[in-house]
Amino acid sequence: MRMMEEMILREGVVLPGGVLKVGSFLNQLIDPELLRASGEEIARLYDGAGVTKILTVEASGIAIAASAGVAMGVPVLFAKKHRSSNVDGDILSTPVHSFTHGTDYNMVVSRDYLTGGDVCLLVDDFLANGAAMRGMIELVRLAGARLAGAAVAIEKVFQGGGDALRKEGIRVEALGKIESMENGVIRFATAD
Ligand code: 5GP
Repeated sequence: MRMMEEMILREGVVLPGGVLKVGSFLNQLIDPELLRASGEEIARLYDGAGVTKILTVEASGIAIAASAGVAMGVPVLFAKKHRSSNVDGDILSTPVHSFTHGTDYNMVVSRDYLTGGDVCLLVDDFLANGAAMRGMIELVRLAGARLAGAAVAIEKVFQGGGDALRKEGIRVEALGKIESMENGVIRFATAD
């Protein structure tokens, strides 16, 4: 999506360790036009896929997932990164390794909110090694729900998580696909 790529080039900051800082339009300050357009693009991509629920993970996936949920007219469920008093009773849980923090956490949802009849679209801000996506896929599996596919604002193609999922037959869409960020220079994958 052109608007996403232009914003990445204009505002994105490449940090050491292959991390792209997008705090000025996606992760902290959120650009309203970009958010609206991203939700509409995800809705267009998954039109007709029978999605009944969007699943994301707190905190930075929530905004784009909510925008997609509004555009598609489906509820948005966000997994928590820790079990808390808000997530009690019968839960679905799976361990995930965090790329940005270098630590492990448990991804948790209430069983009541993800059910066997759901057709889930997974949404997140970034797709890097794919651990967060794989955590969400496991929650969908534990719930006995179906997976329509995944959509992310930014895929860092060079980390391989997206292509590994595609090889497994999972549909993965990215609004901005970064091929490389060597020496701070951002290059996008050409559309195929
Ligand atoms: P993965 O699990 O695919 O390795 O990484 C995806 C998760 O890590 C996303 O939920 C995202 O929040 C975070 N993440 C991965 N790479 C980046 C990055 O370059 N910049 C930012 N801001 N977050 C990232």
